Amino acid sequence: MTEKKDLFPHALYIHIPFCARKCNYCDFNSMVSGTQTIDRYLRALEKELNILQGQYLLKTVYIGGGTPSVLTEFQLEKLLSSIIEYIPTSEIQEYTCEINPGTLTKDKVVLLKEYGVNRISLGVQSFQHRQLKLLGRIHSGEDARTAFTLLRTNGFQNINLDLIFGCPEQTLDNWEHDLMAAVELDPEHVSTYALTYEEETPLALDLKNKVLHKLEEGVELEMYKMAIRYLTRNQFKHYEISNFAKGECECRHNRVYWENKGYIGVGAGAYSFLHGVRTANEKDVLKYIHGIDENKNIKSFDECLPQNQLASETIIMSLRLRQGISNADFHERFGYAIEDQFENQINRLLTYGLVAYEDERLKLTEKGLYIADTVMTEFL
Ligand code: SF4
Repeated sequence: MTEKKDLFPHALYIHIPFCARKCNYCDFNSMVSGTQTIDRYLRALEKELNILQGQYLLKTVYIGGGTPSVLTEFQLEKLLSSIIEYIPTSEIQEYTCEINPGTLTKDKVVLLKEYGVNRISLGVQSFQHRQLKLLGRIHSGEDARTAFTLLRTNGFQNINLDLIFGCPEQTLDNWEHDLMAAVELDPEHVSTYALTYEEETPLALDLKNKVLHKLEEGVELEMYKMAIRYLTRNQFKHYEISNFAKGECECRHNRVYWENKGYIGVGAGAYSFLHGVRTANEKDVLKYIHGIDENKNIKSFDECLPQNQLASETIIMSLRLRQGISNADFHERFGYAIEDQFENQINRLLTYGLVAYEDERLKLTEKGLYIADTVMTEFL
């Protein structure tokens, strides 16, 4: 057996850049592709996974996209068996796969279970026809309910529902309806994201051409507050700016990102972050496949972060967690206190009541939470 070269626990992200159709708001690295390209991509992924074999002690695996569930049953089995071949899944605590409700079948659910996937992230976004149509989603609210039930009855005990708020035409009542529908399903985790209009997406163009109108910022903030109120009243813990979990079901994989710890990404455009060095794979799917086939370097980018930038990013990411960042942990990692680098900024934020110290942890206050992006820029 290959000797483990790095025993620090890492998270592994596997990118599947294919979708059944491009959603109107999406600027993720995803495309609609034919079977042949997908098959070639899966072979390339397998090769990349093979290179990683035995190198790291992995604790979480996350298959994201794109839409991993757009793979046929045959392709999905190929992917899952490649993963199990190169990653000892017995050591993995959390193994997530993203699912689009419009692409799930009973056979895919059975495969996911059989190969050890123990967490599902279901891209519901909304339960309402008009919202789903505006977003360009391929599924209905009913499809989301059916997919959830299929997953639950086949033994998945850790399911996240992704919801989007702040859509054009959405009202506070609409949003409450979506929150209620989500809670009725009784998931373990809910993520709520404010819609963003990414350049060049159909939604952004409709906005530019005044076909659609953006919600007022105040309404969007009310929606965010409503999500916090509604979900916390229903036994969810608000543990991260956009994330809510019941019991022990906080997402371990994403926590690695929020704590700015090491992770490895495989697949087109996937980022890795190891020992202060950030790299990204070639984003273009065909170039990625070609690079792997030809045993070429598939990294399109790498940067070694200086210590002060690493510290700054760690604070920004950790402040996303409601528990904030521990000064003791920070000191242990960087050899100095947070104030040594950011004394003026912290004093200013404390004065405005946007951050607070609690049990030696620096965290956003409720006021700071609502303008988190502005607060974070102080640490750049
Ligand atoms: S399913 Fe997700 S990744 Fe695919 S187009 Fe829609 S938002 Fe983008």
